[in-house]
Amino acid sequence: MDKLTCKICNTSFIKLYYNSKYCSKKCSEIAKKNSIKKYHQSEEVRKRKNEYYKKWIRTKKGKEYTKKRSYLVINDPEKYKKLSENNKRWLKKLNTRNFRDKNGNLLTNYQVKKLQSSKNYKIKKK
Ligand SMILES: [Zn+2]
Repeated sequence: MDKLTCKICNTSFIKLYYNSKYCSKKCSEIAKKNSIKKYHQSEEVRKRKNEYYKKWIRTKKGKEYTKKRSYLVINDPEKYKKLSENNKRWLKKLNTRNFRDKNGNLLTNYQVKKLQSSKNYKIKKK
């Protein structure tokens, strides 16, 4: 029979079933949990969630939620302070050298940095 090493606890064990990868039920459960965790943290899932959220926010319910949330923030001094601080931070991240894209939109510093790091792109300063 085949001898395998359990990927969870590193003990070697004899393969009981055709598709057994772990030494015990406990280890296979841990592995299952890990893979679920990994799945939820993966880029693909995050992207899909983000896309779903973007679609949802444009629906009637989503718009109501945004309204309600911004209303709550404006009426809560602490949250409002946090929001304005976030805005300040965001402005700092914005393009400070007035680089624009083909359509004349201002680029963020991050976008400028990204473009500058790509070799075959030259930014025209306006
Ligand atoms: Zn194990």
